[in-house]
Amino acid sequence: MTHTPIASKNGTPRIVVLGAGYGGIVTVQRLQKLLRPGEASVTLVSKHDYHYVTAHLHMPAAGTDRLESARVSIASLIDPKRTRFVRSAVRRIDPKRRVVELESGTLEYDVLVVGLGGEPETFGIPGVAEHAMNIRSLNTVRRIREHIEMSFETFKREPHRTELLTFVVVGAGFTGTEFVGELADRLPVLCKKYGVDPSLVKLYNIEASPTALPPGFPPELVRYGMNVLSRKGVVYKLASPIRECRPDGVLLNGGEFIPAGTVVWAGGVRGNRLLEEAGFETSRGQVAVDLYLRSPQFANVYVIGDCSLVVGLDGKRVPSTGQLAVQQGAYLARCLAASVRGEKAEPFVYRHQGTVASLGKGAAVGVVGSRILYGYVASLLKKLIDMRYLYLIGGIPLVLRKGVFKTD
Ligand SMILES: Cc1cc2nc3c(=O)[nH]c(=O)nc-3n(C[C@H](O)[C@H](O)[C@H](O)COP(=O)(O)OP(=O)(O)OC[C@H]3O[C@@H](n4cnc5c(N)ncnc54)[C@H](O)[C@@H]3O)c2cc1C
Repeated sequence: MTHTPIASKNGTPRIVVLGAGYGGIVTVQRLQKLLRPGEASVTLVSKHDYHYVTAHLHMPAAGTDRLESARVSIASLIDPKRTRFVRSAVRRIDPKRRVVELESGTLEYDVLVVGLGGEPETFGIPGVAEHAMNIRSLNTVRRIREHIEMSFETFKREPHRTELLTFVVVGAGFTGTEFVGELADRLPVLCKKYGVDPSLVKLYNIEASPTALPPGFPPELVRYGMNVLSRKGVVYKLASPIRECRPDGVLLNGGEFIPAGTVVWAGGVRGNRLLEEAGFETSRGQVAVDLYLRSPQFANVYVIGDCSLVVGLDGKRVPSTGQLAVQQGAYLARCLAASVRGEKAEPFVYRHQGTVASLGKGAAVGVVGSRILYGYVASLLKKLIDMRYLYLIGGIPLVLRKGVFKTD
């Protein structure tokens, strides 16, 4: 399999990048550095005029940090002389006509990069899409935060409604664990603020598989993480798939019903629906890309981040993470720059740098290479990872502006 040079109608290839998330922003920033003026036109499309640091959203969602900490204006990240930014929602991709339909018009392309991120995978469980909230964007996060605060306010007026003080997080992988850790820190603060007896508050983390925390963590780290969170008041229900999500709680497969005023779904991610609607072959909404991150059906469409399905050197599916999206973005810029010059591109190789999951204030768990990290050291490393990403996209000024999110 080889990588073909980019073909264009008028000589200047038009590269259109959809989505300004981890993958999209890094692609565009690297293209700005690598492409010489006039070599290609680059257009970035996103529905917001800001980039959000998705891996940080669990904190503003729980209310342990400001929403502002996760938001970075796109204008501060791109060079308008080298990248045209179009703020608009993508409505439809037409890969046969090489056109993208936006809320505000249409865009033609020679090369398309799809980095539209993921959506909650509900596995068709009744009621999840309707009644559960999810941590996907600044808007969904704002809703969760306000809803939690509102639950306490309403309980103060209607103290018989104790279910308002039950919080259910479905999914105990990366996102669920990080959110539950923050929420466990936040709930005592809210109890104090609203004068609520903390013994009335319940926080469940429900998981279909028999183990919690990100997949692949060694058993001693899983035990440590679960102990930390259990001591903070998290009640685990493992090997407990959800049968139904209702407006007033969740029904487990075993028949137990947990009345709850708040249900947050962190049970899985799928690729953006626009891909399958456009006729791309997908698995859980993700396109299994070739060695150069292209769609096997359309050689001029590249798919990155949560929209893509990548198989690693070990033959296993690489989990959808910011780490993967950033590496893909950096690679793709090199690959596209080579292509516009008619040069040969090397295949993409994913290099796993480790996984660190936060457990709330001052604690985390992680595996980096053969090293197992936990406690304060791991939480410091987590902050360094956050800082590194900010540095990557915005240099020291952005790191300083965001104050490395919230310090303990
Ligand atoms: C709470 C949480 C914690 C996480 N922690 C980590 C972590 O510690 N480490 C890690 O590596 N990964 C982590 N992840 C996963 C990581 O955030 C994602 O894998 C990563 O964001 C995927 O990048 P992406 O570029 O595919 O999409 P995203 O970063 O989600 O960006 C998608 C972009 O597309 C735009 N968009 C979407 N639809 C449209 C449309 N129709 N029209 C126009 N624009 C659109 C969005 O506005 C956004 O700009 C975490 C995720 C969550 C939710």
